[in-house]
Amino acid sequence: MRRLLIAGNWKMNKTVPEAIELVRGLKERLKCVEDRDVLICPPFTALYPVSKELEGSQILLGGQNMFYEEKGAFTGEISPLMLKDVGCSFVILGHSERRHIFGEDDKLINKKVISAVKHGLIPILCVGERIEEREEGRTEEVIEKQVREGLKGLSSKDEFVIAYEPVWAIGTGKTATPEMAQEVHSFIREILKELFGEEKAGRVRVLYGGSVKPENAKGLLEMPDIDGALVGGASLKAESFSAIVQFD
Ligand code: 13P
Repeated sequence: MRRLLIAGNWKMNKTVPEAIELVRGLKERLKCVEDRDVLICPPFTALYPVSKELEGSQILLGGQNMFYEEKGAFTGEISPLMLKDVGCSFVILGHSERRHIFGEDDKLINKKVISAVKHGLIPILCVGERIEEREEGRTEEVIEKQVREGLKGLSSKDEFVIAYEPVWAIGTGKTATPEMAQEVHSFIREILKELFGEEKAGRVRVLYGGSVKPENAKGLLEMPDIDGALVGGASLKAESFSAIVQFD
């Protein structure tokens, strides 16, 4: 029903030669993945050389962030046109590191989501609660706000992906159990039903992210509302990322 999407978020890692080496390793190892989408999101500086290396491969390319304007006096920013120009079809938006280290709020993230869709990029909107919010029993409230505000202005015709990444599980080695993740994923799908109708909600892919590794991928990816993974640390090695992609 929903095609699996396994995405690697390389974050601020890999020089160009290191990126090429990783992509070559992935191309060698990834066999029989016609039934799922594989996406890598290198840092901006490696996007163009990686896109050249990916020619003829089915691995998809995405950015880790972008600004919503097309061009202009926005020092240090990257536009949707620039991402498209180097072969990106996806862009990660609202990652918790953008929200919490760089102060991005739902309003800004929503502008980026709208701009990505307008320019033909598929946004991966990241949402997730912090540990104190979970402990206070506010997980659903936090997720609902991030989903509703992040997707404001989109219609059921627009293509987008959601990634549920509990902040306490990112880079900590602490993974949500498949059951904990499933509970939030199904809650997200309920919100999507309200916003876009049952049919569209059934087609939107909701990925899980936060310490996904070869050892825990299968348990998570077999849950009914988990449609893929957004992988950080384990996407930096060809061996572990290809093991996650080929978890079954
Ligand atoms: P880790 O897989 O390193 O926990 O990172 C998850 C993440 O933030 C992916 O976007």
